[in-house]
Amino acid sequence: MTETETIAYDVVVLGAGPVGENVADRTRAAGLTTAVVENELVGGECSYWACMPSKALLRPVIAQADARRLPGLRQAVQGPLDAPAVLAHRNYYTSDWQDDGQVRWLEGIGADLYRGRGRLAGPRTVTVGDKILTARHAVAVCTGSRAVLPDLPGLAEVKPWTSREATSAQSVPGRLVVVGGGVVATEMATAWQALGAQVTVLVRGKGLLNRMEPFAGEMVAEALTEAGADVRTGTSVESVSRSDGTVVVVTDTGERIEADEILFATGRAPRTDDIGLDTVGLEPGSWLTVDDSLRVTDSEWLYAVGDVNHRALLTHQGKYQARIAGAAIAARASGVADLESDAWSAHAATADHHAVPQVVFTDPEAAAVGLSLAEAEQAGHRVRAVDVDLSSVAGAGLYADGYKGRARMVVDLEDEILRGVTLVGPGVGELIHSATVAVAGQVPVARLWHAVPSYPTISEVWLRLLEAFRDH
Ligand SMILES: Cc1cc2nc3c(=O)[nH]c(=O)nc-3n(C[C@H](O)[C@H](O)[C@H](O)COP(=O)(O)OP(=O)(O)OC[C@H]3O[C@@H](n4cnc5c(N)ncnc54)[C@H](O)[C@@H]3O)c2cc1C
Repeated sequence: MTETETIAYDVVVLGAGPVGENVADRTRAAGLTTAVVENELVGGECSYWACMPSKALLRPVIAQADARRLPGLRQAVQGPLDAPAVLAHRNYYTSDWQDDGQVRWLEGIGADLYRGRGRLAGPRTVTVGDKILTARHAVAVCTGSRAVLPDLPGLAEVKPWTSREATSAQSVPGRLVVVGGGVVATEMATAWQALGAQVTVLVRGKGLLNRMEPFAGEMVAEALTEAGADVRTGTSVESVSRSDGTVVVVTDTGERIEADEILFATGRAPRTDDIGLDTVGLEPGSWLTVDDSLRVTDSEWLYAVGDVNHRALLTHQGKYQARIAGAAIAARASGVADLESDAWSAHAATADHHAVPQVVFTDPEAAAVGLSLAEAEQAGHRVRAVDVDLSSVAGAGLYADGYKGRARMVVDLEDEILRGVTLVGPGVGELIHSATVAVAGQVPVARLWHAVPSYPTISEVWLRLLEAFRDH
């Protein structure tokens, strides 16, 4: 029989994805002893099956599309992508699914790594293997989320792709059905279609990217179709089976589609079903509700940071929360009882409520921050939206021949600050941070006139948006 060993820390972090790593970084920087528990790879979903591999697949796709829009360059890039080279480049970016580099980083900040499944075992206590880790100040649950598969009979035998297989596949399927219309579905449809698969996208709702302004999904659907994908909206999967290697999908509209693989990009669930939540009075399998310091409701010591709290399922937002949670844990550990909670606080993740940015790396890119027009209206703000055709901007014309793109700014008419901005078009992903600064900083429109964009960049869209607002 192995003996259990109890080891005391200031902070125990459950899960070493980007969020757990950043909580540990901050608590270590504050001088707190910190244990990190990880049962797969240090670096989490983001490094190995999400952000990094998906963007490594998409970058050549987008670069090729951009190059094909430039006279003088177009002819030089007419051939297909070198798919094996793109997949190898993706493998390089995931370090071939080895986490040695990130383990070294964790050791470098002075955190102790425990390999294995961590579970809460009552207040301030986590078990991992034969170890019991106790936390003087905080346990931070950073266990992330996993893909959800629909409840279709026989689905397991079909061996469907989730985001994991879609980002790590080592060969290009001949035909790929993508079920879903959100970010993962549209990005993976874009990547695999360009890498040589014949992609069919099945979307239950009216269109793609339905959390963004409607024109974003419309433009991405149009471009996917132009690229050769078959995008079918208002269609859901009735049944799916596999025989002799071929996947057969029957839709609720009675159509039968054959494919080599099927990807379900149909949502995420919290990885909280087997982490001992019941031992601290919480519901296993639930998203964890937190306050702005990322502390679980009614708890003195339990924090839930990143995907697991369902505030914004994005790495950058989770890392932001991690910086805040780390600062809050350190402040409370040093005896500060009441943390300030205003918009400028270092201890409150206020941007989660009104200034979350997101870039969808499709072609065209779709980027947004803050609220869409519909969301702002639903929230009761008195707003006006102004739209600009991006092709009217000199920098856009230079960026791509026949540039197609659109921008929307949602202005609050009470105080004339921006509630949200959406940009769709080639290259706009790098532009969205200017909008994030304006939205998070609550910069009045009158002051934005003095933020002068360089000529001739696509950023001059800001002038067109301000003019459209003034002249409306
Ligand atoms: C295909 C895809 C593409 C994406 N692209 C982007 C993008 O471009 N940009 C962006 O911002 N976001 C992107 N996201 C979202 C992003 O991946 C997540 O928001 C991010 O990974 C969340 O980080 P996290 O640390 O909260 O969780 P995770 O990255 O999921 O990490 C959680 C870690 O906890 C570990 N763990 C879980 N349970 C236990 C346990 N009981 N004991 C020990 N360890 C445990 C897991 O093994 C994992 O390593 C994408 C998501 C997908 C699916």
